[in-house]
Amino acid sequence: MVAELSSAVAVEVARAATLLVSKQRICILTGAGISAESGIPTFRDKQTGLWENYRAEDLATPEAFARDPKLVWSWYQWRRQLVHDKQPNPAHRALAQWQQHCARVNQQLTLITQNVDDLHEQANRLEQTIDKVIHLHGHLWRNRCSHCDKAYEGNTPMSNREVESVEKNADKPSYRFDDSLLQCTHCGSYIRPDIVWFGESLPVDAWQTAEEAAAHCEVFISIGTSSLVYPAAGLAQLAKQNGAKIIEINPDPTANDIVDITLAEKAGIVMPVLIEQIYQHSFP
Ligand code: NAD
Ligand code: ZN
Repeated sequence: MVAELSSAVAVEVARAATLLVSKQRICILTGAGISAESGIPTFRDKQTGLWENYRAEDLATPEAFARDPKLVWSWYQWRRQLVHDKQPNPAHRALAQWQQHCARVNQQLTLITQNVDDLHEQANRLEQTIDKVIHLHGHLWRNRCSHCDKAYEGNTPMSNREVESVEKNADKPSYRFDDSLLQCTHCGSYIRPDIVWFGESLPVDAWQTAEEAAAHCEVFISIGTSSLVYPAAGLAQLAKQNGAKIIEINPDPTANDIVDITLAEKAGIVMPVLIEQIYQHSFP
């Protein structure tokens, strides 16, 4: 594994592992980059096919939905189509294993994500970890009413994944996501994805938990986020102001200028090595 890392990154991974085993409270924020190696594009990647002329920032807003609900709903159904068969990558798996490890050695690890996919949850199931994941920006697989906010279960089983099954076999189910608009059974308004759009406020409970974890942690790790989308991007600053060390995992430079240790490599490559080294420190 270590052979895949450049020597410069390997040195920084070793520094990060030494720091992490010496601290009690760790807070992690993940972004779209952690799911990139699972085949889910980030918002910085150019959209392809039907949607190449649209920008996420112009579709993921309440104004866009009010103006043209069919357009926005179709985009989300297309995203669901893109994501429904994607699986956790080694970074999600390593994080789930680390959560388990922290519980054994009495460290506190809070995992916060900006992602709306469920790859952290899938990894936790695979690793049989019960730890929870705090979603700041909602859930791609949930829907709710755009007017009365009631959760929409409708007649779409498996958290609305298989709107229509076109081909199913045991190994590789394939689903087609219908883009017909749905209506709330209580008030008749259109159903929207349960996602925090640009310009909307974050869920109060999730944000409070995240702020508290960031303010009290000793190490804050930012993985696969461009650190451009606020208020989530402010969590690292809050941690830093309260004395935490900041680690960033991202192959490309970001807007985050308060980083103490930069692991400039893909999360799926660096995370398993980091966790391996943490184990070695704990059980030499
Ligand atoms: P972003 O698209 O702004 O930035 C992604 C970052 O990931 C970039 O800095 C990029 O350099 C980095 N990256 C790319 N590949 C990586 C890899 N293999 N390992 C580590 N880092 C990698 O994403 P963001 O900061 O999360 O903010 C954008 C918003 O987009 C978020 O609110 C999020 O809800 C939403 N979003 C979510 C998903 C998802 O749920 N998977 C996908 C796209 C966008
Ligand atoms: Zn309603």
